[in-house]
Amino acid sequence: MLRNYHSHTYRCNHAEGDAVDYAREAVKQGLTVLGVTDHTPLPDGRWSGMRMALSELPEYLDAIKLAQEAYSELRILKGMECEWAEEYHSFYEEELLGRCELDYLILGTHFFPCNGSWCGSHSGIYNAERLRAYTEHLIRSMESGLFAMVAHPDLFGLTYLEWDENTEACTRDILKAAEELQIPLEINGYGFRKRPIDTPSGPRPAYPWLPFWELAADYDIRVVVNSDAHTPAEVGASLKEGLQMAQMLGLKTANLEHLE
Ligand SMILES: [Zn+2]
Ligand SMILES: [Zn+2]
Repeated sequence: MLRNYHSHTYRCNHAEGDAVDYAREAVKQGLTVLGVTDHTPLPDGRWSGMRMALSELPEYLDAIKLAQEAYSELRILKGMECEWAEEYHSFYEEELLGRCELDYLILGTHFFPCNGSWCGSHSGIYNAERLRAYTEHLIRSMESGLFAMVAHPDLFGLTYLEWDENTEACTRDILKAAEELQIPLEINGYGFRKRPIDTPSGPRPAYPWLPFWELAADYDIRVVVNSDAHTPAEVGASLKEGLQMAQMLGLKTANLEHLE
C-alpha cells in the first residue's frame, strides 16, 4: 500500500509532466494514493521562478480533475506545497482551501525572514543565526493551522554541514512543535536521490539527515514518507527507503485517510 502525497507538475518550471502523467505512472508502480501538490502560485508574484503563475491555477485544477477521471482506480488528491507568510494566510485559507476546495496544503519552507528580507532555505542556512531564523519561521508557519504536513523539516542539512548543539536545539524545537500541534513531518525521498553533499566529516545525504530523525523517536509525532516527485517516473521513488528508515528508528507513520 504505497502512497505519495507530494508531487509536482511542469508548471513550477523545474519539474516535468502533468497530473495525468503522474497518475499513469502511479498506477503502473502500484500506488494507491497520489497527491498532486505543485508549488503554490502567490498573489503578489514573489519567488516567481519556481512556481506557476496565479493565472495558471484554474488549468492546474482542471488537470487534476482530468487525471481523476482518467484513473478512477487511484485516489488522486488535489493539493499544493506552500510557503507560509502572514500576508498569504488568507489566500491559502480562503482561495486554495476555500474556493478551490483543495484537499490539503503541504508546508514547504523554502524561504525564511532574515536580514530584513528573505533568505533561501536551500542555500542560506549555514550558521547558527540563520538556522535559528529558519526554525522560528518554520514553527510559526506550522502554528498557522493551515497545513496537513511539513515537507523536509530537515532541509537545513543542505548547507548546515555538521551536527552540533545548534542543530540539536533547533531540531528539538521543531519536534516539540510537531508533537504539540500533532502535525506530521515528512521524510522527503527527494533527498535520497540527490547527490550526497561533502562535509568535513565525509559525504552524507543532505536530507533526510539521520540525527534529526533519531531525535524524532523521543517525541510523540507521526511521519509521512513522500517521493517529492519532480518527474512522473519518480512518483513512487524512495518510498520504500524512507519507510525502512522510519521503521528502523521506530517512527510511526501518520494516518492521512482523512485527506482522502
Ligand atoms: Zn520543487
Ligand atoms: Zn519542497
